[in-house]
Amino acid sequence: MFSFLADKLDNTFRKLRGLGKISEKNISDALKDIRVALLEADVEFSVAREFIAHVKEQAMGTEVLKSIKPGEQIVKIFRDEIAELLGGDVATLDLTDPARILVVGLNGAGKTTTSAKLALRLKKEGRRPLLVACDLIRPAAIDQLATLAKQIDVPVFTPAPGEKDVVRVAREALQWAKTQDGTVIIFDTAGRQEVDEELIGELKRLNDYIDPRETLLVVDAATGQQAVQVACTFNNAVGITGIVMTKLDGDARGGAALSMRSVTGKPIKFAGEGEKLDQFGPFVPDRLADRILGMGDIVGLVEHAAARIDEEQAMKSAQRMAEGKFDFNDFLDQMRMMQSLGPLEGLLGLLPGFGKLKKQIPAGALDPKRMKHMEAIVLSMTKKERSNPMLLNPSRRRRISAGSGRPIFEVNKLIKNFTEMKKMMSGKGKMGAMMKQMAGSM
Ligand code: GDP
Repeated sequence: MFSFLADKLDNTFRKLRGLGKISEKNISDALKDIRVALLEADVEFSVAREFIAHVKEQAMGTEVLKSIKPGEQIVKIFRDEIAELLGGDVATLDLTDPARILVVGLNGAGKTTTSAKLALRLKKEGRRPLLVACDLIRPAAIDQLATLAKQIDVPVFTPAPGEKDVVRVAREALQWAKTQDGTVIIFDTAGRQEVDEELIGELKRLNDYIDPRETLLVVDAATGQQAVQVACTFNNAVGITGIVMTKLDGDARGGAALSMRSVTGKPIKFAGEGEKLDQFGPFVPDRLADRILGMGDIVGLVEHAAARIDEEQAMKSAQRMAEGKFDFNDFLDQMRMMQSLGPLEGLLGLLPGFGKLKKQIPAGALDPKRMKHMEAIVLSMTKKERSNPMLLNPSRRRRISAGSGRPIFEVNKLIKNFTEMKKMMSGKGKMGAMMKQMAGSM
């Protein structure tokens, strides 16, 4: 999400860092750039103004100006202030018994998905979540929650068809919860197209009855300033304890995330970064500030990969590669592991300096469709062919091309690349390649 700001500010920071000495003009020029970038990213006007004033006050301090690397210092001030703007420390959930969480928001913000994502996360932490469907407006929402709950194997309470009284549902759900072995109950509620009296009235009644530890407002990052306004309205009406910002994987410019804390006084507690249920985690201001500075998020990348890669299998593949035994079965396994990591572009965005790198990658190279095509080709091979690619003569290749629906040149190219990679990666080949390279450089 923050790549817009990272791209915009890249030049400004590079200029600042390069300066041995810094004048007031250098600083005000940089601040002007930053201010424009923040406003273009849809940061609330007064938030941007205050932010700039804050950075300026510190940057103009004599200690900074006289330091050995004043530019670096100013960039650091900016980074820390951005982290502060995003909320500073990571905000936690109050889950003291009886732990009840009310999930509220407008239609389409991602409430139902978030309820399930949160349940999955709590489950992974060793808690025993229960889900309750309280959306009586949209029957599909009840089915949606029930389906998601089944996917993650979490008990779910669904109201009787035609039920209209949301407090009665909550009462019955609490009764039901007593028969379940749960430690935290998550209530998914109904939304509306916009905040109206009916919605607020319903949420107030629910809130009073359930008396939740947490009332989490789900907002869509892509709606920018509107998300901040919605948060203020909900907070004034029912009192929220935190915000879940969804769709951070989209092309939102970041303004909502940067303005939210200052304007509403409420922390963003979680971030949704995709439609899949595990694409969700705590909102970590420090890491996001690093992303804005183009410093990447290596910790996030490693955590993301660690959660999805089967280490044992990866080690086995590496071993087989080193021994020259790597075949198309291993290739298929690896491809599937890669796919479980999600879109490559999102992943690479976590790497430091990727903003610049991205422009050098040919269009389409990161297209997930290509992976699917490769997979189709490998799946059209017989088991024997996969483990012994030497068998792949022209007539077999034609059959694979017809079976996978991919042109013959693609099949040939994949096999050629695979064979080369295998040679490069095997112990002998690696040595050979190194020798060749050395000979070439002499
Ligand atoms: P609700 O009406 O607030 O309950 O919203 P839903 O949970 O039904 O979500 C609306 C749509 O947004 C669905 O298609 C979700 O898959 C999608 N969605 C939710 N969270 C995210 C997210 O973090 N990223 C992306 N890309 N899509 C999301």
